[in-house]
Amino acid sequence: MKNSISLTRKGNLIVISGPSGSGKGTICRALLREMSDLHLSVSATTRQPRPGEQDGIDYYFLHRKQFEKMIADNQLLEWAEVYGYYYGTPAEPVREAISRGKDVILEIDVQGAAKVKNNYPGCVLIFIIPPSRHELEQRLTGRATDSADEIRRRLAWAEREIKELPKYDYLVINDEVAAAASKVRSIIIAERCRPALLDINDFITRYWLM
Ligand code: 5GP
Repeated sequence: MKNSISLTRKGNLIVISGPSGSGKGTICRALLREMSDLHLSVSATTRQPRPGEQDGIDYYFLHRKQFEKMIADNQLLEWAEVYGYYYGTPAEPVREAISRGKDVILEIDVQGAAKVKNNYPGCVLIFIIPPSRHELEQRLTGRATDSADEIRRRLAWAEREIKELPKYDYLVINDEVAAAASKVRSIIIAERCRPALLDINDFITRYWLM
């Protein structure tokens, strides 16, 4: 029987963006169920909770003043204004998970993704889109959580977001959730094989020096 080797590695930052309605949330939940060593960052936002959303699970729902204090106190890894609301990633839980060797998923917009890539060039940017604009419109209308005005705003925003696609490392077209989730899982697994994340000295000393 082969001896299994244990590698000491830092976690990776996996940024997932895509238009509202692209299915990125569903894909992330599927990945969390299937993969170990994965941590989903819970963002802070000033938008109102949608029916069924829970504080501390889906988002930290904050007032503008509370959010602005987090910005001032440097507690956010990145933040952006989307659809007139603040959204941001609390820094501490992300740093803590990465130092424990967990890959951290940030489900954030294109502005936030650009900031993260700037500050952490080793991060991986994945863009998820539905097969067409028509399909996106159908999904946004079908989920019935937003008003017609809000849907129009989200579609207009999607057209702007898609222009940022060339900055991403990977594109995953979500025409079927299981297939799209499997592609994202493959990307995460492939990225775990990069030696940059490995404690190379530890690996060589333990397994290769006689
Ligand atoms: P929603 O209101 O539909 O949950 O999210 C709206 C948009 O905000 C989505 O594109 C989502 O990815 C983005 N978003 C959620 N959390 C964050 C965050 O922490 N930072 C940034 N920059 N965008 C976020």
